[in-house]
Amino acid sequence: MPNTESTNDLAYYAELGFRVFPNHYRTDAGCSCKDARSCEKPGKHPAIKGYQNLASSEFKNLTLSRNLFGGKFRNHDIGGLTGFGFFVVDSDKGELEGLPETWKSKSANRGFHYFFKAPSGISIRNIKDLIPGVDIKGQRGYVVLPSEINNREWINSPHEAELADAPTWILEKIQHHQTTQEQVYSEISGGFDFTSATILEEGTRNETLFKYGCYLRACADRLATFRIWRFSERSNRLLIAH
Ligand SMILES: [Zn+2]
Repeated sequence: MPNTESTNDLAYYAELGFRVFPNHYRTDAGCSCKDARSCEKPGKHPAIKGYQNLASSEFKNLTLSRNLFGGKFRNHDIGGLTGFGFFVVDSDKGELEGLPETWKSKSANRGFHYFFKAPSGISIRNIKDLIPGVDIKGQRGYVVLPSEINNREWINSPHEAELADAPTWILEKIQHHQTTQEQVYSEISGGFDFTSATILEEGTRNETLFKYGCYLRACADRLATFRIWRFSERSNRLLIAH
């Protein structure tokens, strides 16, 4: 267990191996980002680009790197990547029944985060509304961690509870959702492989682009992993833009 007294600062999270990054925070005007009052997710989004790759669990790196908390992000809030060792069940509708005791945090407006060990053999993705009002934060996802400047607090900190295995009913729901989504993607895309550059058959450009549009819409919860495509008139190809 960590030696630090605090259970909500960079030293604590680094010692526990959380991969953290600067997150925006709530202000009187709404959000610390440039959109301030008009921000749609005040205090709930990363302050840096490429946070998935920059997030770190090295205290020195966190406090010295100007991309992290070493420069203008010094006083920012703390976001933590999910999908590395744990995933999070994120409930906006208060406490969830049927969950074992595990790391748990709570916001002032009854938003609960339940942390569970990432199971072996299943890759857990981000899922919106697994149950209405309950999201899953998995690979390439993140949550706001309790800190001195947000309204979130540990109910069971990693100091006080063991990180539990997720109950079977949650894992089954996640697996069911992910399998169904895979089928939907496959049907909507007409079995088309959109993961590499594609040469279009004569006369199929519009149809393929339409399918791709539908595919993108269906995969909205995977936006973080999308590649950007463009269509080349000259070569009649869909190209991946790097
Ligand atoms: Zn914002």
